[in-house]
Amino acid sequence: MERDLALRDKTLPAQTTGLPLDPNAPIIVWFRRDLRVVDNPALSEAAQRGQPIIPLYILEEDAPRPLGGAARWWLHHSLKALCRELTGMGSKLILRRGRASDVLLCLARESGARTVLWNRRYDRMETGKDCKITSALVSEGIQVESFTGSLLFDPRTVRNRNGQPFRIFTPFWRCCLTLPDPPRPLPRPRELMTHADMASDALADWRLPPEKPDWSGGIATAWTPGEDAAGARLADFLEDGLCCYAQRRDHPDQDATSRLSPHLAFGEISPRQVWYAARTAGCHPTESFLRELGWREFCHHTLYHAPDLASQPQRGEFQNFPWATDEAAWQAFTHGRTGYPIVDAGMRALWETGWLHNRLRMIVASFLVKDLLIPWQRGEAWFWDTLVDADPASNAGGWQWVAGCGLDAAPYFRIFNPVLQGEKFDPHGRYIRRWIPELGGLPDNVIHRPWEASAEVLAKAGLRLGKDYPTPIVEHGAARLRALAAYERMKNSA
Ligand code: FAD
Repeated sequence: MERDLALRDKTLPAQTTGLPLDPNAPIIVWFRRDLRVVDNPALSEAAQRGQPIIPLYILEEDAPRPLGGAARWWLHHSLKALCRELTGMGSKLILRRGRASDVLLCLARESGARTVLWNRRYDRMETGKDCKITSALVSEGIQVESFTGSLLFDPRTVRNRNGQPFRIFTPFWRCCLTLPDPPRPLPRPRELMTHADMASDALADWRLPPEKPDWSGGIATAWTPGEDAAGARLADFLEDGLCCYAQRRDHPDQDATSRLSPHLAFGEISPRQVWYAARTAGCHPTESFLRELGWREFCHHTLYHAPDLASQPQRGEFQNFPWATDEAAWQAFTHGRTGYPIVDAGMRALWETGWLHNRLRMIVASFLVKDLLIPWQRGEAWFWDTLVDADPASNAGGWQWVAGCGLDAAPYFRIFNPVLQGEKFDPHGRYIRRWIPELGGLPDNVIHRPWEASAEVLAKAGLRLGKDYPTPIVEHGAARLRALAAYERMKNSA
């Protein structure tokens, strides 16, 4: 059992209470972004104690950042799956909404619980809140224990030679790889002792999925939330994807990545499960896949040390960046009507399915912050609302990386050319044809640059450029020079 006592945050007073505990009192296990029963240290610990368990999920009304629309859809279905899972184990997930400390105190009073267990979250805003919740519980004589479940390595343990957090990914990951392996995943608890039924909200009453209009059809077609689906997706990837991951991972038309991100974001599967499954999957080289899990770690560790990651550039000079305000360009961008096929295909895929391939995330983000000069925070917020895997660390980290203002970021002056990116990573235009059917009749050599197609080719493809599909809203060459000039202005104003 990975109790991780040594790592317990000294600021959490509950962990030193030592109050006498009633061995028959129920234990509350508070589920957060760990909606699973396998490799769930808090749940396993509760099961091992042999006391009745009250599994709880709180719709936190004081969450530092409310979930976006696509993530609310996912949460609904993920909770449904967890309810089913726990019911199958003879238990029952209790759903309550409100301020977390109020809900926990109230449930503890109603049930006689003297202990609350949870797996840690590492977003500083949330850890700050968890400290306050702990104090409130401790002052009522309730013990709190927390466990490591959502990361491979605890952010407090990965430091450079000077004892500081790493600012660059490669040495960070090299250091992680020298640490002892993460603990092996815990099995599903064999038995959960049930507690007498407690009042619970009905999930439907939370109205998490969109209603009027219900735009979730494409997302529902693309995804199955829940722990079982996460396991099945991992198994499929290990069988078909891992062997060619390094060669194919950058090609959005090839469906070559794991697509585990929303499952990881909601904790339906743990990074330790993915790590060990990949490492023991056979003779496939796994470094490049594990390295991506490493990026996830790096983003979370960065967020732990920089809680304002979603709003503040990590490189201070970017505070003075001369961003533009261009509402028409923003509308064209979010609606997938910029006139650049690879950008538009990505933005349409994101809207339809709630997910975007990593290469596309980089291309569209670069287009927004460099070709359109629109602040990266606006793009981050759009992704937050539309991604099913919206994650406070990886989303903010990804945007800051592309915008050049993150700790370990692509330099701002390296500007993606959306046409060349499209031609390199979707050479036959398969991805474009899937998401922009009006371009489907164009031959490969102009599908990424339809404005260069002759009148004859356009006519043959049945495409009226400017009517069926827009002409580019900016000319990339000129936009690039404008971005570089803005960057110079920022540097000179520092
Ligand atoms: P795989 O390639 O199969 O990788 C396995 C896992 O590693 C992923 O599921 C993910 O958890 C992690 N991972 C992979 N690449 C990265 C990366 N670059 N950074 C951090 N973790 C990574 N990822 C999110 O999970 N949520 C987000 O909100 C998010 N927003 C992003 C925004 C931008 C602008 C950019 C450039 C990247 C963002 N990413 C985000 C990272 C990455 O694009 C996705 O994790 C990846 O595309 C998910 O696909 P996959 O599960 O098939 O990944």
